[in-house]
Amino acid sequence: MNEIQRFSFDHTNVRGERVILTNAYQDIIKRKNYPLSIEKLLGEFVAAIALLRDLIKVDGILSIQAKGNGFLETIMTECDEHRNLRGIAQWDESKTIPETIDLKEALQGGYLVITITHKNGTRYQGIVELVGATLGECIAQYFSQSEQLPSRVWLGCDGTACGGLFLQRLPKEQEQQGDEDAWDRFTLLASTVKQEELLTLTTEDLLHRLYHEEELRLYPAKEMQFGCSCSRQRTLEAMASISPDEIREILIEQGTVSTSCQFCAETHVFTEADLSKILGDQSQTH
Ligand SMILES: [Zn+2]
Repeated sequence: MNEIQRFSFDHTNVRGERVILTNAYQDIIKRKNYPLSIEKLLGEFVAAIALLRDLIKVDGILSIQAKGNGFLETIMTECDEHRNLRGIAQWDESKTIPETIDLKEALQGGYLVITITHKNGTRYQGIVELVGATLGECIAQYFSQSEQLPSRVWLGCDGTACGGLFLQRLPKEQEQQGDEDAWDRFTLLASTVKQEELLTLTTEDLLHRLYHEEELRLYPAKEMQFGCSCSRQRTLEAMASISPDEIREILIEQGTVSTSCQFCAETHVFTEADLSKILGDQSQTH
């Protein structure tokens, strides 16, 4: 199962979303030999970006990145408009990684950055403070603040699959009939979801288990998959940030410059001729 599905409760102003990813998640973690606890945390980030991507209207790429000063150096996930997911984590390999990770402890004074990169290249960045104990709480806080809509997020990952459940209370005007305690009732029920249910049940079965007494509307599921946006051209552009002297040194030593994408492991090889533009300007000044 690699899909995301929306739902709403009839006669209320509450909507929701559920994501479950198996192969798409495994394709992300198999690129690197992650400690299990980091693998699980990365899975929560993947589930979170999948939920965010479907909720925030953007014509480009959405990413979440965490940076800090603890043993976890960076963790980053991204999703484009075709629902291609990719992600990566870097940690201090000299440190012992705990079996269960507390996000605040792992990042030590760090924070989350949510970046929206539109197709025309414009970027918008939002900072998310690590207010909650879990990533789900931090993401919920982001929604509650940026959209001024009460939101709750539950995330899970067991190293094989990752999943998430999202509930949001829309403005009162959208409420068709008064059901004052609907929000409390739905969030209370969602809080009872077990990780195993979140990571194995189909969305229909999960929602039936939680909300069989409610009138629930399920929208068509959308497929998600692993996908990397790297390309030969983009890699070449990124190489412009390396000093020409360093590139020349590598060319002398190895004959070509090869780089391997950290997200998908695809290797791109460049010859001196390919790099002439980058090297060109500098060699004229010598
Ligand atoms: Zn790649």
